[in-house]
Amino acid sequence: MLLEFDLNLAKNYKSPSQAVRVCSEDWVSRFIFCLNCQRVVRKHKNNNPAADFYCEICKEDFELKSKRKAIGNKINDGAHKIMIEKITAQQNPNLFLLTYSENYKVTNFFVIPKHFFTVSMIEKRNALSLNAARTGWIGCNILISLLPESGKIFYIKNGLIADKDEISKQWHKTLFLKNENEQKGWIFEIMRCIEKLDKRSFTRQELLSFVPYLQKKYPNNKNIEYKISQQLQILRDNNYLKFSARGSYQLL
Ligand SMILES: [Zn+2]
Repeated sequence: MLLEFDLNLAKNYKSPSQAVRVCSEDWVSRFIFCLNCQRVVRKHKNNNPAADFYCEICKEDFELKSKRKAIGNKINDGAHKIMIEKITAQQNPNLFLLTYSENYKVTNFFVIPKHFFTVSMIEKRNALSLNAARTGWIGCNILISLLPESGKIFYIKNGLIADKDEISKQWHKTLFLKNENEQKGWIFEIMRCIEKLDKRSFTRQELLSFVPYLQKKYPNNKNIEYKISQQLQILRDNNYLKFSARGSYQLL
């Protein structure tokens, strides 16, 4: 895998954003493989509204967003209403995020699997003003900061290329979320708490240290401890973690 864009492709484009789009799409179609089957992804014909890339075998769709330097906490995306409809119908694409340096080298590339999207991660933007070409149009932001770390699968992190099998393993590890629509918000909440503990093995007691924080966030929930136990059970049943003999949980 090369990290440099093929800048020869940029020569015909006056607009820098268009040149970056062409170069980044070319780069993805040469080096990025489907997480599910490891085959290289293919580019959709131009102007496909649903996605930029797809896997012919798995029929997975991927949208690509590129940004110079860092991704930040939120990403602009398309129409708010359509985004909410797609997530609700589980028809949103997987999202590829790419960052590049001043000299057009890929610095980060990661995927947010489609099943990590929830309606509460989508922020409504202000309607376009009367002077804009599309008056009244309402776009959205994806609030990346609400994602647990396991919702970001890195191919390249700070210029370092990840192992191919490790990438696929991470994808398969959270596929169960496709069937967990109702509890997803709580599962993510508990995943994030576990990540804050920052260790492979932890006790239920350690996790209960987040009760005051969660109670503040969900004042109407009268049984936060039950919620924690419920999510631990779901995560255990789906081999995200295991319950070890010493009464502690271990991430798998
Ligand atoms: Zn595939």
